[in-house]
Order: sequence, then structure tokens, then C-alpha cells
Amino acid sequence: MFALIVHGGAGQWHEERLPRAIEGVERALDVGISILAHEGSAIDAVEQAVMVLEDDPAFDAGTGSYANTDGDVEMDAIIADGSTGRFGAVAAIRNLRHPISVARKVMEDTPHCLLAGEGATRYAHANGFDFISNELLIGDATHPAHDTVGAVALDARGHIAVATSTGGTRAKMPGRVGDSPIFGAGAYADAACGVSATGVGEYIMRVLLAKFVADGIARGLTPDVAAQGGIAHLANIQGSGGVITIDRDGRVGKHFNTLAMPFAYVDGRGQRNVGS
Ligand code: ASP
Repeated sequence: MFALIVHGGAGQWHEERLPRAIEGVERALDVGISILAHEGSAIDAVEQAVMVLEDDPAFDAGTGSYANTDGDVEMDAIIADGSTGRFGAVAAIRNLRHPISVARKVMEDTPHCLLAGEGATRYAHANGFDFISNELLIGDATHPAHDTVGAVALDARGHIAVATSTGGTRAKMPGRVGDSPIFGAGAYADAACGVSATGVGEYIMRVLLAKFVADGIARGLTPDVAAQGGIAHLANIQGSGGVITIDRDGRVGKHFNTLAMPFAYVDGRGQRNVGS
């Protein structure tokens, strides 16, 4: 049994951009499924799925990221392996095609969990990751809102992994870091479930949204009910956003309180669903 869910961000999506975004999340889902169906690991599946979305300018992650008020793209990403309890993250990293892969390298090959700013960019450079110019990273500024990406997977060995990647919020201050690279806020994984969050980071951080949803599942809630509870909790402080989650039984949950959140998943019973 395996399961995978990906999202393309909870936000103020314009109707005409949704079909393209749904195509994008479906493509990422299929890449992840091709790994999981061949006994691949959850961590590989979420990394590869998010890489597809980082390359897709329809989303605010990697290529297509929002620039800050200086005109620079600064990206945040996190990957977490529920089977080991470890995570790696990068914050305010620049000129990187795949921030999620740098986050994985931080997790696997450094004594640290989170590298930020110039140090993170230098680390990626020293390790041969694909560099890309600021101009190529910036999404078409005439495009209306688009959003952060994330993925959660359960593999055949019962391991759960999660990945979240973002260019952050539109017109953010230079140096601003959102919830995405904060373990327990923008992502969380343990042996029982994985959660990826999206929305306005300044609110998500205050309620540790991903951990809040995981705590609900640990108390026995179904993933869907736990996801709804998380968004209600976020709404209590006037926050808006969305979450996706999978538990160790391959049950999927998702919920959002924004206009839309493109998603695609296959659950542990092989049920496939795509929507926004
Ligand atoms: N959570 C992201 C941030 O605040 C943005 C998003 O999910 O759209 O950086």
C-alpha cells in the first residue's frame, strides 16, 4: 500500500488559472506515484513531486516565485522523514532551481536542520545544485496570485515523508521567512502521519498548524477531521490557508478556507482524486 497527496497552495486563485494548476499537481502526483508504485521511498516521492512543481511557473516555488520588495526571489523549503524524525530546511535561499533538494541535503549531510540566507545559498553552490538567475525565477508579475507547493507520502514500508516549498508571500520584506521551513508550522512528519501547510505564514506559525493537525490525528481523529480542525484553529486568529495530510493507514485529509487549493491524491485504497 502507498498513498500520496500534493497541493499547489491555498490562496486567492483566479478561476482561469486553476485548470493549469490542476494539470500541474496531477503531473507531480504521477511522478510521485511512479516512485511509490516501484517500492520507492516516501522521501524520494515527495522530493521528486515537489521538484516538478518547483519547475512549474504556475506555482510560487522555484521558478514562478514572488519577488520581495527589492525585486529578489528568496525561497523557503523543508523536507521531513517521519521514519527517522529528522528534517532539513532552507530559508531565504536565492538563485536555486530546486530548494527542496538542498533541504534534503541539509537533512542528510549536515549536523544542522535549517540553513538560511547567504550560508544556505553558498552551501547549495558548493554542492553543485542547479543555479538559476533571479530573472528566470521570478514569475510573470502580470499573473494573478499563485501559490506554495507541498506533498505528503506513505510508502510500501509504512514510512511517511513530507515536503513544502515556497517563494513566500507577494511583496514581502527582504529577509522575511514564512512558516514553510519551520518544522511543526509549514510541515510535520512522524511515524503516524505527515502534514504540509500553506497560507499566510505569519498566522500559520502562530498556531504551529502542521503539528496541530498531527496532534489531532494522534488523538484518534481521521485525517480529514483533523485537517478541518486545523483550519478552524487557524481561522480563530483570522488566518487563512490549507493543509494536506496522510496517516499511516493511507487515509488522506485536506482542508482549506481560501478560494481554492489545487490538489491531487491517491489514497491507500488506490482511490484517486483531483480538484481545487
Ligand atoms: N505559507 C507561505 C508563506 O507564508 C505562503 C503560501 O503558502 O502561499 O511563505
